[in-house]
Formats: sequence, C-alpha cells, structure tokens
Amino acid sequence: MNWPEAFAARMQARLGPEWEAFQEALAKPPRTTIRLHPEKGKHLYPEASPVSWHPRGRVLAERPNFALEPAWHAGAYYVQEASSMSVRVFLPERRPLRVIDLSAAPGGKSTLLLDELGLTGGLLIANDPDSHRRAALAENLARWAIPAYLITGRDPAWWAEHYTSAFDVVLLDAPCSGEGLWRKTPSLSQTWRPEEVHFCSRRQRRLLSAAKTLVAPGGHLIYSTCTFAPEENEDNLSAFLAEDPEWFPLRWADHPPQVVEISYAGGGWGYYFYPHRTIGEGFFLSAWQKKPAPARRAPAKYKAPPALRPVKRPPLPIEGPLVFFQQGETISTLTESAYRLLLPGIEKMEALPLWRHHKPSHAAALLPALVGEELPTYELSAEEFYQYLRRQPVERALTDAYGRAVRAGFPIGWLYKGRPSLPRPYLSS
Ligand code: SAM
Repeated sequence: MNWPEAFAARMQARLGPEWEAFQEALAKPPRTTIRLHPEKGKHLYPEASPVSWHPRGRVLAERPNFALEPAWHAGAYYVQEASSMSVRVFLPERRPLRVIDLSAAPGGKSTLLLDELGLTGGLLIANDPDSHRRAALAENLARWAIPAYLITGRDPAWWAEHYTSAFDVVLLDAPCSGEGLWRKTPSLSQTWRPEEVHFCSRRQRRLLSAAKTLVAPGGHLIYSTCTFAPEENEDNLSAFLAEDPEWFPLRWADHPPQVVEISYAGGGWGYYFYPHRTIGEGFFLSAWQKKPAPARRAPAKYKAPPALRPVKRPPLPIEGPLVFFQQGETISTLTESAYRLLLPGIEKMEALPLWRHHKPSHAAALLPALVGEELPTYELSAEEFYQYLRRQPVERALTDAYGRAVRAGFPIGWLYKGRPSLPRPYLSS
C-alpha cells in the first residue's frame, strides 16, 4: 500500500525502527473484538482471549456474521475496537456520576459508560449533533438497554453556554481525520490530506474549549481520537490545558507496555495505540482532572419539566429502580439514580422507549429488568428467526396480545397478536 507522503514522513520520524512493522500491520485485516454486556452477555465467548484493559473485552478468533446472531440482536455484546475500551481507565471511582459523551454516535463509548453507571450509578447524556448518526445511537442504546441515558443533539458550545461546571465526567471522542481507521476502511487513506488534519485540529480546539467548560470541580475530562496526528492530539491538549492551575493530568499508571505513553508540553500524559503493537485500531487517549472545589456545593433543587413528569409504570413485569414518563405517544424510562441527576431545561431528548400505542416497544423486550417468567415467550426456529429479521410475519397462535420472541435463549423482540410482527429495522454491524 502507498501511504500519502506527508503521513509516511511524519510516522517514519515518529516510529523510527518500528515504521516497517507499523506499515505491515496497516496492510493486514483488523482483528474482531467485542465487549460483553455486563448482564446479558456475561457467559458468552468463554474461550475468546481477553482484552487486558477491559474485563469484558474479548478478541474473537474469527468474525461472525453479526447480523445473523441472536446474541447481537439481543444486545448481549457490542462490536467495538479494543483500543476504544481503554476509555474506562480514566473514570473516577465514586458514584453517582453525571456524565456527558459529547460526540456519542453510534454509541460504542456510551454503552461502555452505561456499563459503569448501571442501574444506580448516575446519568449519561449521549449527545451527537448529527441526526442521521443519532438514529443509530438511539438504536444501539435501546438494544444495550441500560436505561440511565438521555440522547440529545446539541453542539457542545450550546452545552457549554448552559451547563457550566455541571458534569463529573466529560468525554470528547472528537471527530478526527481517522488515520487509525485505514486498515478497516482503506479508501480513507486515499482521500487523506494534510489540510484535513489542520481543519480537524481547529474544530477539536473549539470542541475542547466547550468540553473544558462543562467539567465540575474534581471532575474528569477524557479526550480521545482515532488518529495518529499530534496536531489533533497532544498539541491540542497542550494548547488548552497546559500551565492552567485548575487542571491536573491523569496518568494510566499500569498501562500495558504495548500501549505507548507520551508526555507532552504542560505535563500531560497521552496514550497511543498502534496496530503493530496492540489489538484494535489506531487510537489516542488522554485525561485531566479539574481541581476539586474546597467544599462541594449543595445540588440545586430540581423540578422535573412537564416532558419528564413521572407517570405510572406501563403494564409490563419490570423490576428495578426505574422511573417512567410520557414523551408524546411513548412511555420512556430512566433509572431513579439518573432521574435524580437531571438538569433543568433539557427538553429535546430521547430516553429508552418502553411502551407505545398500547403495546411494548421493541426496546422493552431487550431489557434485562423485564422478568421473563411472567411473560408468554415464544422460542423461534431458525427459519422463523430469519423471517423475523427480514420483517416478515411469524405465524404463531398467541395466547396474549403480545409475547416475547426468543432465539437460542436470547430475547430479540415481540410477537404481537392480530398483525404481523414487524421489528424495527436492524442496523448491520
Ligand atoms: N464516540 C463514538 C463511539 O464510540 O461510537 C464515535 C464518535 S465519532 C469518532 C465522532 C462523532 O463526532 C461523530 O458521530 C460525529 O457526528 C460527531 N461530531 C461531528 N461534529 C461534531 C461537533 N461539532 N460536535 C460534537 N460532535 C460532532
């Protein structure tokens, strides 16, 4: 493969004797890695090798056809680059947390953050200004079914203007030139230009400035990209955070030796994942903590806006510390812990939808909090499963108005009485 000249020159200078191995790795197909859902997927792939920096990261021996796997449709795992799973190491230990993922779509890191929050550990705002990508985000978070999130679509500058110092964790997984994705999508290398790196860098500085404003005293700012360009990584962070007495760099003390640690101007630590050294695609990660305030302010009293006034639980056998509220035709849910951390004034948002037009929505079938024994359940044959995925009717004599469709032990949706079962369209992985 011929890499763009300016890229090759920069990487050669940076990697020295490792440049050959880096080039060879970029020309090889990537490994397939997944992250298991903490409840729905905990027993899956016991034979797969682990990802050392994430307890539920797994390296698969070969790439399955995910679109035909019941476990994938059930949200029992998320197909994610191993390198991206490292974001977890910079989360604070205390709970509950109010977290914002500013560039969240399609949801890989948001699902990881939800694992860490669970049902009692706080609220995640999963934000992305791109409406098309946000549709994929909504689908992936609904499939993951840990209802501690709200999806929003604001520019980070809007957040910064309205919610100064409001978040314990701010993740900026910034839009970037994507050099680390070339072996997954080789055509990206052919459209790469140095000007694009500069354009991305300028945009990232603007986003970083907003991200920084959002962090509460004592909170963490986690910055990541999937590019090797220093202009988009350490140079940006040096410029914004260096010599600011409000911030301390965070260090990944026991990082695996294959992950390259750098120090940059201003005292920060950055972590590069190169494909010739680690599993996973190219990635950069760095984190800082804002100086804690001498005493924690009492949280402002919060009255739920009409859009989030609690309503009665829909008639589903659901267990767990959940709050339900009406959004138009839909009853959605949020954990009590997340509900307590809501911010005033967020009106345009989407939570996990549970109930719509007198019946459970697709996402409800995938909730671990749904107590299966009380529900009529229909195990689908292989043929019925493929029919279901093709959105063709599955003919079954249902005893109730609806029943949970299960394949190979994994709940994958509903069968409704009196009309064909049409699950939501599925994304391919
Ligand atoms: N965090 C995601 C994950 O783990 O699945 C991947 C995020 S991707 C690297 C970058 C995202 O930045 C895209 O979804 C894109 O829509 C979003 N983005 C583009 N412009 C943005 C902006 N001005 N502010 C915030 N996010 C933006």
